[in-house]
Amino acid sequence: MGVGRMKIELNCASCGDNNFNLDHGVADHATIHCNRCGHRIGTMAELKERVAAEVLSRIHKNDFS
Ligand SMILES: [Zn+2]
Repeated sequence: MGVGRMKIELNCASCGDNNFNLDHGVADHATIHCNRCGHRIGTMAELKERVAAEVLSRIHKNDFS
């Protein structure tokens, strides 16, 4: 039994694009903006938390145990 692949989508709340500007770096305090519309996505730390929460909720739903 394999867990397989998990595709996590993080989209801009404003335009729905997932092309983010990482010009400010990838440190936790770095601010991420949307490449398309310039909307502030959040800090890298916030992004990591969103990805972690998404992964945990999917694992929970699929109950791999
Ligand atoms: Zn956008």
